[in-house]
Amino acid sequence: MIKFLDLQKINAHYVNELKEASNRVIESGWYLMGKELASFENNYAAFCNVKYALGVANGLDALRLIFKAYIEMGVMQKNDEVIVPANTYIASVLAITDNELIPVFVEPNGRSYNLDSSKIEASITKKTKAILTVHLYGQNSIDRHMVDLCAKYDLKLVEDAAQSHGALWQGKITGAIGDAAGHSFYPGKNLGALGDAGAVTTNDESLAIAIKALRNYGSHKKYENVYQGSNSRLDEIQAAFLNVKLKYIHEDILGRRRVARYYLKHIENTLLTLPEVLHDDGHVWHLFVIRTENRDILQEYLHKHSVQTLIHYPIPPHKQEAYQQYNHLSFPITEHMHTDVLSLPISAFMTDIEVEKVVEVLNIYNG
Ligand SMILES: *Cc1c(COP(=O)(O)O)cnc(C)c1O
Repeated sequence: MIKFLDLQKINAHYVNELKEASNRVIESGWYLMGKELASFENNYAAFCNVKYALGVANGLDALRLIFKAYIEMGVMQKNDEVIVPANTYIASVLAITDNELIPVFVEPNGRSYNLDSSKIEASITKKTKAILTVHLYGQNSIDRHMVDLCAKYDLKLVEDAAQSHGALWQGKITGAIGDAAGHSFYPGKNLGALGDAGAVTTNDESLAIAIKALRNYGSHKKYENVYQGSNSRLDEIQAAFLNVKLKYIHEDILGRRRVARYYLKHIENTLLTLPEVLHDDGHVWHLFVIRTENRDILQEYLHKHSVQTLIHYPIPPHKQEAYQQYNHLSFPITEHMHTDVLSLPISAFMTDIEVEKVVEVLNIYNG
């Protein structure tokens, strides 16, 4: 079976360094908010080319704390609106609703899968305070029009960079383009910890100061609480693992691009629609997502031919039971997409033989 993602095989490449890192933390006797975190925050800020990178417990918290900080700073208030793509992973929407802000869903472009910036302006009202754009599947989602709208309507541009470590737009890295960004280091992400972890990046000093307190019980100074904060810290052991894996992220991106290029060049089956790449350096291929009319049949066919695939995602947020208040809304592009997308195996450690096999099997599929 060609696995969708073989984390054991991926982490085996770093096993000696990971063991050394965990030994270092165990023996240090210091497990939270120490040297490993400080070092990862420096390294990740340098990687993104931003002033501040702040480790938090996971990607959802990174996004949640950005909005919470804006509320504490008086930039936003309860019931303000945030534009978000309708076809995102539910975490983006939870970050908005957990703060009692209102998500305003906008349709994506059906080929790039990212927010269609030409559809944003019609959804802007007096209550709109931010755009939460998602670099879905690893491709930058920001364009000039989106940036201009933020300037015109005085909106914060918040990036969900959970899937896009290292993707660029006009020479800037995703996570350093907007006002603030949330990153995830969930094990399956391109930069994955061996457990949960996340980070906020920003150049905004006030925001960084607020988030530093919010992630640690709302406190800058022990036992003095300026906010009703939360416990959302990035463990030393995960920071130590991330310091190891960050060194190899560029290699990882090149490896993923090798697989993606092969797929794009050699998949020739007209029953399948391939993803659109806007700029080569704008995509880090967290997922390689194709579309096809009878998706479930294709998935079963691939499974029979020993190719494991996944669906990102089968149900859009506005159709989830958790969001019954939005179930009546209709987003036809998004809803259609969720019935016909399929994610092929991709990783830097897939062998050429595996990649060729996937293509071969796809090219003889006849529906
Ligand atoms: C993974 C992911 C998140 C959440 O990250 P966690 O670390 O799992 O909390 C948020 N947004 C998107 C688009 C994601 O893919």
